[in-house]
Amino acid sequence: MGIFIRRTRYIIMKNFLKISTAIFTFVLIVLFFDAEPVKALQIVYPKSPNTEVSAASTFFVGNTKPGSKLMINDKEVKVYENGSFVEVVPLKDGFNRIIIDSKNDTEHEIFTYIIKKVPKADLMVKEPETEDFPQNQYIYAAVAKENTPLRAQPDEFAQRITHLDKNTMLMLNGKKGDYYRVFLTPLKTAWIKAENIVNYSTIKGNILASATNVSLSEDNLYNYIKTDLSLPVPFKITETEKGLNVEVYNLKENKADTAVFKPCGNISSFTVNSVAQDMTSTYYIELNSKLWGYTAYYEGNTLVIKIRKEPQIEANNPLNGIKIAVDAGHGGGDYGAIGPTGVKEKDVNLSIAKKLQTELEMRGAQVVMTRTNDTDIELKTRPAIAQNEDALILLSIHANALSDGANPYEKHGTSTYYYNAESVNLAKTLRDSLINNLGTKDDGVCRYSLVLTRPTMPLSVLIEIAYMIHPEEYAMLIDEDFQQKAANAITKGLETYLLKSANPA
Ligand SMILES: [Zn+2]
Repeated sequence: MGIFIRRTRYIIMKNFLKISTAIFTFVLIVLFFDAEPVKALQIVYPKSPNTEVSAASTFFVGNTKPGSKLMINDKEVKVYENGSFVEVVPLKDGFNRIIIDSKNDTEHEIFTYIIKKVPKADLMVKEPETEDFPQNQYIYAAVAKENTPLRAQPDEFAQRITHLDKNTMLMLNGKKGDYYRVFLTPLKTAWIKAENIVNYSTIKGNILASATNVSLSEDNLYNYIKTDLSLPVPFKITETEKGLNVEVYNLKENKADTAVFKPCGNISSFTVNSVAQDMTSTYYIELNSKLWGYTAYYEGNTLVIKIRKEPQIEANNPLNGIKIAVDAGHGGGDYGAIGPTGVKEKDVNLSIAKKLQTELEMRGAQVVMTRTNDTDIELKTRPAIAQNEDALILLSIHANALSDGANPYEKHGTSTYYYNAESVNLAKTLRDSLINNLGTKDDGVCRYSLVLTRPTMPLSVLIEIAYMIHPEEYAMLIDEDFQQKAANAITKGLETYLLKSANPA
């Protein structure tokens, strides 16, 4: 009996262990594979087996067991060492049935994708009529949002003429669709979205401001040009070869137009022209250094133009004491591009950004990171962090991808993006250092309007290290040694740039 009981207990115990081991294993499998049976073949792009594409081709990005024979619609596709594959597939109009067939000694998997090629969205929407307000009649309005763009055309993709601060007062003389036409001079207008203005009232005749006082000043990091105005009027800043031109609109007078200004900080020459029939006062600012960034804003009715001073560079240690903002692109729910074996761009970017931080700090630089972990940070917050911290340079780290219709075997490599002329040489120097040290293909230095390239301060460059959807570049991007090399190349590029652009002590 005793023995029997013990034996029963033993069997129960044994079964209990077996069952719990089985449950444990099952839970593990569920946890790891999300209840799906493990598949050798995985397709990362296109994202769904039923997709619409409006291009002549798409591409299949994914992975299978290394050594498998992979066919896409009767064409054998190269499977790379780590199992990655990327294949461009041409599309005909209407439905395209695409069969992906992966075979090795033990498994045979077939996926079917139905891709519908659709015509490009019809952009011929009926244009609204432009409404001109009666001669000499304006709507008087205030800008409601910080950093509101004025555009060349009443269209959200049109060129940005300038950005305006909240509370800037505007005279509007026409309307088209959701946009109002802003009167800058009798010959110059721009457009603002109706949702960005408030407090409108219709007026007869124009309301012009007086500029009563203009002054120059400086502190450790910046030069300031302050203009006291009776109203916060619109203005526009243009980069010139020697510095900046500023046009202050909707003025009836500028009392500083006869003033003589002494050089101050990096400002070697400053003149104010008088207000003429165009109701504009132009400031000509010449610098004794390159332009290291600028911004402008209103403090009440005082227009402040803030210009970054040239940094003090040590010839043998150019990064020492220099503040650099590093932005790891994407994060959190925003993955960025996804590579063939499923690694996400946001993780590659962060890994390179952290290595860059270490390299820069080792050389005495102060580094501002926009993120240090896997969090989602709003796009416009990123340059704001860099600006609030008085960073001299902002670098946004990314890895590239393409849209349908492009061929990743033709377009790949390293590229840098800038928008303002003040940043073009930084973009070129970084591109040169990266392609020389990484051996990647030169994918260009591109002028492109992006949230991370548009800031006029700090100097801003977005770097696309290489492509997530090029199998060989992807294998490099996810390799820690390559990431380290990329961080070193960026560091070297920054040193070269600082030595070349500033006057080292
Ligand atoms: Zn990206």
